[in-house]
Amino acid sequence: MKIGPKMAGSLLVAAAVTAGAGVGHASMNPGSAASGVGKEIPTLQTQTTEEGQKVIYDLYTWQRRELAKRLPLEEPWPSDAAIEAQFKRFGLNNPPIAAAPRLPARILPDVYLVNAEPNLAYLIDAGPDGLVLIDPGMESNVGAILKNIAALGFSTSKLKWVINTHAHLDHSMADASFQKLGAKILIGRDDVPAVEKGTLFTGKFLLPPAMQASYPTFRVDWPVDDGEVIKLGNKTFYAIRTPGHTPGSTCYLLQVDGKNILFGGDTILFDYRLAAQIPAFSDNNAYLASLRKLTAYGIYPDKTRWDVLLPGHGTMVLDRAYLDVLKGYRQVELNVTDNTPVEALPFATDAYRKLMFGRP
Ligand SMILES: [Zn+2]
Repeated sequence: MKIGPKMAGSLLVAAAVTAGAGVGHASMNPGSAASGVGKEIPTLQTQTTEEGQKVIYDLYTWQRRELAKRLPLEEPWPSDAAIEAQFKRFGLNNPPIAAAPRLPARILPDVYLVNAEPNLAYLIDAGPDGLVLIDPGMESNVGAILKNIAALGFSTSKLKWVINTHAHLDHSMADASFQKLGAKILIGRDDVPAVEKGTLFTGKFLLPPAMQASYPTFRVDWPVDDGEVIKLGNKTFYAIRTPGHTPGSTCYLLQVDGKNILFGGDTILFDYRLAAQIPAFSDNNAYLASLRKLTAYGIYPDKTRWDVLLPGHGTMVLDRAYLDVLKGYRQVELNVTDNTPVEALPFATDAYRKLMFGRP
């Protein structure tokens, strides 16, 4: 039985699903960079938020954000079964957002999107020494990722490194396959046991029993430590250990084109959205400390201004990503202080809806 990505995504990150029909239209940007063989690669359609951020929306997020602005506060947030009717009511059922991004696509110079479901997988061109893949997703994603790397004009034999933000199966299950193809696998040290032994910390309890029994395990080539400076080809990744979502969750800073990119995994998502914390395997206090660490992070002696957020799921942020870091921190701080659950989706909460209504 083939595991549907929505199944894993819906539990590990409650909103990984993209629902409903949309108009697919990745735009061709005449200024987009050449790939390995010099052909034009589509970029993705961007929108501007109320906060003035340039973002690449996913349909799921866009529809709910727009509904949060329009649904009268005295009306309760609709159930999943009733939400399509509400989208229709407010004209959100024929949105300007593609149901799924056209792949592969260029995000920034040397940074590409090569998979979008169940998670966002990014390819980084590190020059003649090879390619870096971030969070390759599930085993069923391997074929599509290889096809997309080739479509960008790169030889798939150039894929030398796979970096994981954490051990959940919707991010790391494909690691074993890419290692067999010659890539070295990097993951936060405290998530190494999960992927090497295939423990429940991978979230594999979401899979049918037969797939759990044959869960792909492998030896990690490069356990990543906090503060490690990882030089891969002509790129440098700064590892920031951010436990909470999983024990070994790690964010990475990459500087490209004068911008500070945060690869946030499930630790930082767009606009108050948080990854579902599975109580037995997550730690909200550690998560809060990690988010505080991200707000204050800097490469000595400077504080880092987060520009770009490339998260594990949902909407990608192309500027002023520090807003999302601050929002995540404040949300989890409230949850921990009030002893309320860390909610995966902000849209349904009164606090978020009031905030949205308060906007001009
Ligand atoms: Zn996760």
